[in-house]
Amino acid sequence: MAKIKVKTPLVEIDGDEMTRVMWRIVKEKLLLPYLDIDLKYFDLGLKNRDETNDKVTLEAAEAIKKYGVGVKCATITPNKDRIKEYTLKQEWSSPNGTIRAALDGTVFRAPILVKNVLPAVRSWKKPIHIGRHAYGDIYKNVEYRVPKAGKAELVFTTLSGDEIWRGTIQDFKGAGVIQGVHNTDESISSFAKACFTYAYDQKLNVWFGAKDTISKIYDAQFRKLFDEEYDKNWKAKFEAVGLTYFFTLIDDAVARIMKTEGGLLWACKNYDGDVMSDMLGSAYGSLAMMTSVLVSPQGFYEFEASHGTVQKHYYKYLKGEETSSNSMALIFAWTGALKKRGELDNTPNVVDFAKKLENAALETVESGVMTGDLLLVATPNPNNRKVCTEEFIDEIAKRFQKKH
Ligand code: NAP
Ligand code: MG
Repeated sequence: MAKIKVKTPLVEIDGDEMTRVMWRIVKEKLLLPYLDIDLKYFDLGLKNRDETNDKVTLEAAEAIKKYGVGVKCATITPNKDRIKEYTLKQEWSSPNGTIRAALDGTVFRAPILVKNVLPAVRSWKKPIHIGRHAYGDIYKNVEYRVPKAGKAELVFTTLSGDEIWRGTIQDFKGAGVIQGVHNTDESISSFAKACFTYAYDQKLNVWFGAKDTISKIYDAQFRKLFDEEYDKNWKAKFEAVGLTYFFTLIDDAVARIMKTEGGLLWACKNYDGDVMSDMLGSAYGSLAMMTSVLVSPQGFYEFEASHGTVQKHYYKYLKGEETSSNSMALIFAWTGALKKRGELDNTPNVVDFAKKLENAALETVESGVMTGDLLLVATPNPNNRKVCTEEFIDEIAKRFQKKH
């Protein structure tokens, strides 16, 4: 059978450890036999990042800007242990952070749902997507341990040196703590824009929660900029396809999320997104059942798995022991990228290929063939069978061949 032609090159970003192992098998068994595709390959394996003084990471980000769509394997963020393990020249920064900064992107995550892994919350029928603002607030704070009684103030000085504002934070009677946080209009607006772009693309309603009743300037600015972005660029488009934008207080949003059916994008401030995406991940069953995509305001896309390199499984693999690592998130990173590529290229056969592959993967799990992480949380059934890393991909390949 003739291979399916992917018109525009796709940026492929390879990674580390167990995900690198799975990446190769997925390509070899599920993609390359069927696709005529020009992959612009960047090896972000830690060894090559070290050898290129991390230039390869920036080149990969530039390539995504050039071609529009990329797919990324999980990568090691070096720490002291990794410096020893890989004899690194230095503690290179997180590749995800570097690429995010280069693309000015927002990360969106969504669960991969299968019939036999039920969410911990009964009412959730459709995926709840999270868009996390990845700049500022407590993640870029200044903190001070107040040692004794005294006055803490907030001061703003303009570039020309004029002190134009001063406010008392607290007249301390004794020891305590203070913290300064900030955000910028530019970053908030770009976050809002990324959220509406993603939601419109996926045909999802948008929820945004903040605490503007208490934080009448800081959180109120988030609400204001979301409103402005929506009214100016999205309201008409959303209404034309029956979508809505809903702002509510963050605590009300949390309460309502528990009663919703899902099928929405939940835009979260940085801290809320950090906490709530872990809650969703765990409530939906496994880290390997989450998709993740970085969307830039200019419309560049980087698809990835949301989990790490599964280091513990890799060490077992190196010792020749059997592993049962789940490749679902990696497969969905590829299919997400291919669907987006096909949409942008106007090649429906590429989109169709990706959807069929997703269905083959979902049906494999639903038939009871699954990796160890899922067996722990799946609805008990005599057909349930734990398979090893490669066998899982083989089983998907078998099902897919029948569809193709
Ligand atoms: P991890 O790779 O996400 O794995 C944590 C644990 O979650 C695993 O030990 C395993 O649990 C389970 N797990 C995760 N993915 C799985 C899969 N596909 N199939 C089956 N089980 C899975 O996190 P980590 O071990 O903390 O981090 C390892 C490395 O990944 C670190 O060097 C970190 O820098 C990097 N990292 C990269 C990214 C990224 O590039 N996107 C994200 C996070 C972390 P059991 O051991 O109980 O089976
Ligand atoms: Mg977290």
